[in-house]
Amino acid sequence: MPILADRESRLLIDGKLVPGSAGTFPTLNPATEETLGVAADADTEDMSAAIGAARRSFDETDWATNTELRVRCIRQLQQAMRDHVEDLRELTMAEVGAPRMLTSAAQLEGPVEDLTFCADTAAGYQWTTDLGTASPMGIKTHRTIAREAVGVVGAITPWNFPHQINLAKIGPALAAGNTLVLKPAPDTPWVAAVLGELIAEHTDFPAGVINIVTSSDHSVGALLSKDPRVDMVSFTGSTTTGRAVMADGSATLKKVFLELGGKSAFLVLDDADLAGACSMAAFTASMHAGQGCAITTRLVVPRGRYDEAVEAAAATMGGMKPGDPTNPGTVCGPVISERQRERIQGYLDSAIAEGGRFACGGGRPADRDRGFFIEPTVIAGLDNTAKVAREEIFGPVLTVIAHDGDDDAVRIANDSPYGLSGTVFSPDLERANSVAARLRVGTVNINGGVWYSADMPFGGYKQSGIGREMGLAGFEEYLEIKAIATAAN
Ligand code: NAD
Repeated sequence: MPILADRESRLLIDGKLVPGSAGTFPTLNPATEETLGVAADADTEDMSAAIGAARRSFDETDWATNTELRVRCIRQLQQAMRDHVEDLRELTMAEVGAPRMLTSAAQLEGPVEDLTFCADTAAGYQWTTDLGTASPMGIKTHRTIAREAVGVVGAITPWNFPHQINLAKIGPALAAGNTLVLKPAPDTPWVAAVLGELIAEHTDFPAGVINIVTSSDHSVGALLSKDPRVDMVSFTGSTTTGRAVMADGSATLKKVFLELGGKSAFLVLDDADLAGACSMAAFTASMHAGQGCAITTRLVVPRGRYDEAVEAAAATMGGMKPGDPTNPGTVCGPVISERQRERIQGYLDSAIAEGGRFACGGGRPADRDRGFFIEPTVIAGLDNTAKVAREEIFGPVLTVIAHDGDDDAVRIANDSPYGLSGTVFSPDLERANSVAARLRVGTVNINGGVWYSADMPFGGYKQSGIGREMGLAGFEEYLEIKAIATAAN
């Protein structure tokens, strides 16, 4: 099956692939600015129908309790994605602008394989715990704790790592017994719509268990936060939108699970290999044009070696020429849209206005007049109060900040409204761990360790989110706990 060969994707509502009631909207290739084709544009009626289907399938079928069926369906989806992996790779590079090298990792194949963890967790999960008999308030009682699906989940996702984020919601939510409506970002509708095709054609998911609704209109997705038939909203995106989701969900007191923005720090302690650490920070900040929520975009280095650090970072980042994502050597592709490119350029201009300088980059690459490309940029000469050090840029931009020792490095790292991630570099592991323990963040990398994997929980402190995705903690986000007390003789 050539994926989306008809160049017009469909919604998946109540087990059927249907057109959008608002017509279609275009999806672009960010590397060429060409229109790839059109996606189904849902209106509020379509979204309401999808919510209704998810509600019915939760309330009226055995989906929530039939673990064997759920595990089988998830494994079928995984296999269908594996069987179409080359088509999916082409689509992901074309629509997301994801560099080919990332499609064998977090942009595609990684999350597909992570579905094994979801299926295995559901298959082996202890759904009830027997607490035995006791006599609270003098009444002999047998106590059991049951874990059950929350109900209907509304999943709202961004465009930067769409497979990873879509599957990190679909996998655990469905494995735990919920039904779901996925509303992907308008910038990347096809990578979600294709899941709908694979589900409809290659799996036994009962009608209504999973619904996929693409829309050009953010307010269609906002219905998921407002509709009383939805029990939980699982949102990944910007902190600003996360606040709106939480506010909208408050009217019906929905369970709200938020994965939001970040402004993470890469701390180089004074005993570390400075050049190696700065080069790694620069490489990471350039990857997928910096469009990763957990990328460490503040490089915090010993003050006495500041210039050396800027030079090392610029040597690496200056060499990361933005390029065609289909090229196997490309690390930095385009950003998703002209709007994002302009937004990033605005941040770069603000750095100069605040007295900073570019050690490399700073604008649109001279050799690319098509595509939403921006040069990997190292900003020097600013401290942690600068706008580029405080706000999430979501582009290939690294700001180098001086620290005066470990305490100061920790202070700078934590002096942020965000708390998603962080990196510590030092050959002294005791010292590195002691610094890591003081960071108010959800994930820490020490000396290049990788925290991304199916069994590791991911999420943020502070304004980077509420809850954890992936790992056992991520599965249990989608469960309620019921305490059952039975009078015993
Ligand atoms: P965004 O917040 O603009 O949009 C995310 C999603 O929310 C989209 O599907 C959008 O249509 C929808 N949306 C917009 N307004 C809405 C509303 N009022 N109610 C309900 N839904 C609404 O984010 P984006 O620009 O697509 O993605 C980039 C952001 O995502 C960055 O801030 C990044 O840090 C964050 N992100 C976070 C994580 C994480 O796990 N913490 C992962 C990836 C991206």
